[in-house]
Amino acid sequence: MRPKINYAGPWITAHEVEAVKEAVQNGFYQNYRVHAKQLEERLCQFLGVKHALATNSGTAAIHLAVAAAGIKPRDEVITTDSSCVASAIPIVYVGATAVCVDVDPDTWCLSPEAVRKAITPRTKAILVVHWNGHPAAMDELMVIAREHDLKVIEDAAPALGAEYKGRKVGTIGAAGCFSFQGAKVAIGGQGGALVTDDPKLFEMAGILASYGRTDSARQYWSDYVGFNYTMPNLPAALAHAQLGRIDELVAKKREIWRWYCAGLADFDRVKLIHEAPGTQSTYCYPPMLIGDSVQRTREEILAELRKDNIDARPAQPRVSLMPMFQNRFPNPESAKVEARGVLLPGAFNVTREDIAFVCQRLREAVK
Ligand SMILES: *Cc1c(COP(=O)(O)O)cnc(C)c1O
Repeated sequence: MRPKINYAGPWITAHEVEAVKEAVQNGFYQNYRVHAKQLEERLCQFLGVKHALATNSGTAAIHLAVAAAGIKPRDEVITTDSSCVASAIPIVYVGATAVCVDVDPDTWCLSPEAVRKAITPRTKAILVVHWNGHPAAMDELMVIAREHDLKVIEDAAPALGAEYKGRKVGTIGAAGCFSFQGAKVAIGGQGGALVTDDPKLFEMAGILASYGRTDSARQYWSDYVGFNYTMPNLPAALAHAQLGRIDELVAKKREIWRWYCAGLADFDRVKLIHEAPGTQSTYCYPPMLIGDSVQRTREEILAELRKDNIDARPAQPRVSLMPMFQNRFPNPESAKVEARGVLLPGAFNVTREDIAFVCQRLREAVK
């Protein structure tokens, strides 16, 4: 069999190896939080935000953002029906209702129009997802949020370095959440971060991330139902080293995307999902839709590609159809993504020849 053409995976250099080596040698005792702090400081610098909290996953960062924003049982949070479950499940963690609405077919991110239609007196927040690294329509979403006094939380897990009209995504709403999981742009193995300019939200997120402990005089005393969500030094050192190369990492992902554009430009049976005008995607997971006229099912096409060890993946199933969520809307565009969306191999170790081969096999498989 041909060597695997990977869906996702990091770009590790000697720089990262040295950083982790240094952390495992020195990152304990009085230094037990040094590397996590360095990561937080560098994130603040890179994003231009006041506060960053390193967490042990992106999902944890989203949970902290939702909880620290004060979302409670019976509240409703509007979010997208097209994402991985990690975006919306923190809404369920706090006992609130995730109201999953349709996406814009051009970006697969939240449709502002659909958000507007879903607002009820219980709506407290919008959880925006920059899915696959594509910036969502933030201007329109922020206008809706202001009109209805809603908090905006950005799930920018795969979008570290992505930009919306010159602003880094994750810095536009009340809080932004990133992931350093091994399949993202910059990785720490596992890990994430919450960023915000709001000192109160940041303080509460920090308390909840460490078992709900406040800095009260009594050691080991918890005032809140908190979690164990802080990031240890070793993944932080790796994520920090990767963050030092973020421009190079984003540029590489964008180069891989251009290889797909070149390979599929004149092939109109599939639709590449490009970043919206005025935005810069990280193209973390290169997205594509199989056209209406194609006879074969997506599963048949993916099975064809797997014969050549090409790891293309189906786009995620709709969140609202899972048993822990409510299905309030038909969301036809999300349904289309669910049925015919494909995430193409975009690992950092793919070559130009690999992608040319994927495009060639795709042309043969799409019938
Ligand atoms: C990866 C991802 C997450 C989850 O991040 P983890 O660090 O794996 O918990 C959440 N939302 C989106 C959009 C993601 O791509």
